[in-house]
Amino acid sequence: MDTIWHITVAQVVTPTIEIANAALVIEQARFGAVGASVAIPPPANARRLDASRYIAVPGLIDLQFNGGFGHDFTADPESIWRVAQALPRHGVTAFLPTIITAPLETIQHAQTVLQRGAPENFRGATPLGLHLEGPFLNPQKRGAHNVAHMRLPEINFARDWSPQNRTRLVTLAPELPGALELISFLRERGIVVSAGHSMATYGEAQRGFDAGITYGTHLFNAMPPLDHRAPGLAAALLNDPRVTVGIIPDGIHVHPALVALALKQKTPAQLNIVTDAMAALGMSPGEYSLGDFQVQVDETSARLADGRLAGSILNLRDALVNQMRFTGASLSDALTTLTTTPARVLHLENERGKIAAGYIADLTLLTPDLRVVATMAHGQWVWHDADALAL
Ligand code: ZN
Repeated sequence: MDTIWHITVAQVVTPTIEIANAALVIEQARFGAVGASVAIPPPANARRLDASRYIAVPGLIDLQFNGGFGHDFTADPESIWRVAQALPRHGVTAFLPTIITAPLETIQHAQTVLQRGAPENFRGATPLGLHLEGPFLNPQKRGAHNVAHMRLPEINFARDWSPQNRTRLVTLAPELPGALELISFLRERGIVVSAGHSMATYGEAQRGFDAGITYGTHLFNAMPPLDHRAPGLAAALLNDPRVTVGIIPDGIHVHPALVALALKQKTPAQLNIVTDAMAALGMSPGEYSLGDFQVQVDETSARLADGRLAGSILNLRDALVNQMRFTGASLSDALTTLTTTPARVLHLENERGKIAAGYIADLTLLTPDLRVVATMAHGQWVWHDADALAL
């Protein structure tokens, strides 16, 4: 039987509540009572954990994550579960493994890996389904994707994609012929559709939103820059309240001033911090794979031979801290962008992204200077720093 936990913390901080000297109860992988510790006595059979030096926040969620710890999901879909076990050290409790432009067989392989479910004794972050970034992208904004595998939008190619076969989010270029039909098709099947790697004009982007696009992939990257006479996809994403935008706050993909500008234009509920991390996350500088390409990684960035960025080496905890530094956002507002906002993008806002009764018990304990001390996923401790906390 699952352990019942009673945890006392210095503070609970979520997008909607802040409680000092708090306690929370976790039972059967869900949060129970949460409140001031004087009001939450431990249940009779609970294990008590004194974490009163630390802050409890909802587990972090990454909607764009290509791999890490030496593994690339597109080159090796089998590595998804292994990488998922390492992610909680950065406070991550759920994520979308991202498959970049690849042949259909690779996509099907990744779908199968997730459909098979977690291996025995798995303890890690939960893969919530795939983010398929491609293959319906504009070759003129290819980034680190292989043009040889790009295709025009085609319903037949995506015929069996659904949340049931673990396809959750698809990034495509809405200006391509056939895109609007495919957007409606995917949307009707319950898949979130995003605009990205695109040359769309302002009008083409708006027609994509009208057809059902609700997300923008890594705002400012792999799209034309903001131009005051030709406002393209970037301006359309910023202007339309129906759309949530992903952004990579590593200080390299987007200048910190533009991250701040994006947050002024969107609310924290419409801005979603992602890492877009690749295989070199958590590793030393050197050469790593991203899909079909070899990527040179130094201390701060991952690049193709010609200098183009090829994913990041950012972890989600650092993304949280960078975002606060770049924008002046409070911890609560910054948390919104990587907890409740991604949960809502995926239509999971009633079960993930909050520390509240009935929600899935995904939780991260942080020091006052926001270092990750321990991470719980589905009511189980999946990582902790033994020097900081005895479990
Ligand atoms: Zn991309």
